[in-house]
Amino acid sequence: MLKFRHILPILFLLSSFFFPLRSTRAQESSGPIYIVQPGDSLYSIAARFSVSLDELLAVNGIVDPNTLAAGQQLIIPGLEGITGILDTRFINFGDSHRSLMRQTQVPDELFRRLNHVVSPSEFYVGANMIVPIQDQTQYAKRVSPAAGESLFEMAVKNNTDVWTLTGINQLEGSWAGLTGDTLYLPGEDAGNNASGLPSAFISAEIRDLPIKQGGTGVITVAAQPGVTLGGVLVDHPLRFFPSQGGVQIALQGVHALLDPGVYPLRLDAVLPDGSTQSYEQLILIVSGNYPEDPLLYVDPATIDPASTEPELQQLVSITSPATPSRLWVGDFISPAIAYAESTYFTSRYGSRRTYIGQGTNLSVEGFHTGLDFGGGDGLPITAPAAGVVVFAGPWTVRGNATVIDHGWGVYSGFWHQSEIQAQVGQSVSKGDVIGLVGGTGRVTGAHLHWELWVNGIQVDPLDWLNQAYP
Ligand SMILES: [Zn+2]
Repeated sequence: MLKFRHILPILFLLSSFFFPLRSTRAQESSGPIYIVQPGDSLYSIAARFSVSLDELLAVNGIVDPNTLAAGQQLIIPGLEGITGILDTRFINFGDSHRSLMRQTQVPDELFRRLNHVVSPSEFYVGANMIVPIQDQTQYAKRVSPAAGESLFEMAVKNNTDVWTLTGINQLEGSWAGLTGDTLYLPGEDAGNNASGLPSAFISAEIRDLPIKQGGTGVITVAAQPGVTLGGVLVDHPLRFFPSQGGVQIALQGVHALLDPGVYPLRLDAVLPDGSTQSYEQLILIVSGNYPEDPLLYVDPATIDPASTEPELQQLVSITSPATPSRLWVGDFISPAIAYAESTYFTSRYGSRRTYIGQGTNLSVEGFHTGLDFGGGDGLPITAPAAGVVVFAGPWTVRGNATVIDHGWGVYSGFWHQSEIQAQVGQSVSKGDVIGLVGGTGRVTGAHLHWELWVNGIQVDPLDWLNQAYP
């Protein structure tokens, strides 16, 4: 199959043919090509590659810096020894310093210079790196050497020789250690398979990088037949479920109050013979930029730990199991769709909150765990997606509450209702009326609060209205 990275050099040749002036310039000047991305400016590009703006303008023959357009090709000066197209990409799970070296066959020193990388720990999932795409053979067949296996044994077993292996894998020599490493063998280009992942994993991908506070991580893994998957994101055990196309998918919420930074993501594979392979890499969690709400004055009973704690524990235990079948398909719809504009939110997820008990000094700090819709008493609340009702009843903080299990560890909660119109055990379809808006529990007025739990964590429900999961 003709891949994008194969098409790029062809496009470049074609554009040289149609724009001979530019091609003359490109031939005269040394330096790789960067394709301008939407949102780039000449200043940001100069800063990114640590070159002077004047030099960048001169080498590309640009007179007016305001004429930059996405898709335009720029020569990047001062990067001797690097040729081809400079692609930028988010580091995904399984990309290590070594695997990128081995895939691109770009010498370590050049790669570090291009990305100002000083330590392997900078190869965290979600980091943005510049990867030169060179017109070279891709070595994509991966092997995980067995314990105690020598490079010579591996070479014999795989029909190659020690010198080829040391060359492709940039090993110091044939004595270089193998245990725990993933090596490339000469072979067909396997596209996405080219990563540093152990051989039990065919591929692993994390969607929508980088993940924000309150975001939903979608981890899609293709594994060898018979492999059981597990893992950990931050400190939450992952639960994988089989999906279409032979892949397994884990959904995992990231807490709204988790400090932005890098956290561990580990995938574990148990092979049919009982042996295990694991791969761990840091993943970037970025700020959700959540604002601070004004102080909220509420009934003191609704912030008393004697009532809030047992209620929270009950909610956590209701939303902890993961039903193995996925009951929803495609998009979620607004639970206020019957009466409100889809964007009529009175308070969004994630805002930092302080509740004050009316007439007391008591206060509780936290964050807004869901999405509030405007609208008054008695308006209909509808199921945002199919599922089974697993809780329906009165709570102190959450008022009249309903919880729907959508499967795969995803749950919806609807609080403060004036009337519950669903029963535990009932199956609901997308758009079914399940209750009426009200002002019961810890509120300052009647409204619908909808929250979404993903494998034990409340996430931003708006993400689920804006795009389909998984
Ligand atoms: Zn709310």
